[in-house]
Amino acid sequence: MLRTIAGFDRIGEENAFAVLARATALAREGRDIINLGIGQPDFSTPEHIVEAAVKALRDGHHGYTPATGILPLREAVAADVEKRTGAPVSPDNVVIVPGGKVTMFAAILMFGEPGADILYPDPGFPIYRSMIEFTGARPVPIPIREENGFAFSAEETLALLTPETRLVILNSPANPTGGVTPKAEIDKLVAGLADRPDIAILADEIYGQMVYDGLEHVSLLSYPQVRDRVILLDGWSKTYAMTGWRMGYSVWPAGLVDKVRKLAVNCWSCVNAPSQWAGLAALTGPQDAVAAMVAEFDRRRHVVVEAANRLPGVSCIVPKGAFYAFPNILETGWKAKPLASALLEQANVATIGGPDFGVYGEGYIRISYANSTDNILRAMERIGAFLAENR
Ligand code: PLP
Repeated sequence: MLRTIAGFDRIGEENAFAVLARATALAREGRDIINLGIGQPDFSTPEHIVEAAVKALRDGHHGYTPATGILPLREAVAADVEKRTGAPVSPDNVVIVPGGKVTMFAAILMFGEPGADILYPDPGFPIYRSMIEFTGARPVPIPIREENGFAFSAEETLALLTPETRLVILNSPANPTGGVTPKAEIDKLVAGLADRPDIAILADEIYGQMVYDGLEHVSLLSYPQVRDRVILLDGWSKTYAMTGWRMGYSVWPAGLVDKVRKLAVNCWSCVNAPSQWAGLAALTGPQDAVAAMVAEFDRRRHVVVEAANRLPGVSCIVPKGAFYAFPNILETGWKAKPLASALLEQANVATIGGPDFGVYGEGYIRISYANSTDNILRAMERIGAFLAENR
């Protein structure tokens, strides 16, 4: 028997990938599956970005790049983040990574070890907890509650801090709930965290450009009190519909950049060169495709919420960001995971059960509205028919 380190017995997964595999297998059998499970835009990457990658290949960008990314791209990221957060950002603090997940991986690996506490949102992106468990640190869930509009509660979060807390993970706009934490609450959080200069903050702002109702995205980097401890996680996957390109970036406090660079040298060397040139075109080119996509998500979230609230036993608050709705299914009498599974197997609709995002996700399912209005409406009709027959 080969014996691997204990972390591999604790590491988790992202069930969205298993649901996608099952949905694809069922579709291959000829079933008409509507996928509201997957967390990626249903748009293609804008043409000028694709062209930039093709041009990069033709121009001979075939080799390794610096481990933290090509300089023009890091400069463009620094300028873009500066513009959106008001924080002064140096290209030296920017690291280009193969997807936002890699920032998460690097940050959690940097602070997680037995004896350390790491706070993370629950329900939240499942990889936070999985990676914390991997390192042997203690995962401390921050409850994200429907009655708070799925925003972080500063009071509840700060009450969870212990002398052992090394890292706090924040995510707004949020997956899986679509919650956006209001500025007043982030102000309070920052005020509390300002007293703990030993705690790093991983600010997962990958949905930062997808906020609705005239709300403003508030970046943790915009707070000078904690700026020297914030690790900003962002990237191209969601904003530019580039999930398969594996392009993310992070902004690191000065003392940590070199550690990430070393991790890159040891692990991924660099992000593939043509994707980096495409990323540059995305940031410096026209932004109208982003605006059009966000406007379309904005329209669709009302379609989902209205349809969800007509389902028997279901209620759904209006998400303020990202492209997810998180309807409450408690009154249907179903547990969330069996319901999500039955919906896929019997009603041909893929969703994700709330418990795949944490213990506080019970009683909810995640619906991604990164699908056409027509498909959303057909899917909600199917869910309605299923619930009417199976309560
Ligand atoms: N953070 C959150 C909250 C996400 O929902 C996702 C992807 O679903 C990621 C990070 C990872 O993004 P990427 O595909 O760039 O690794």
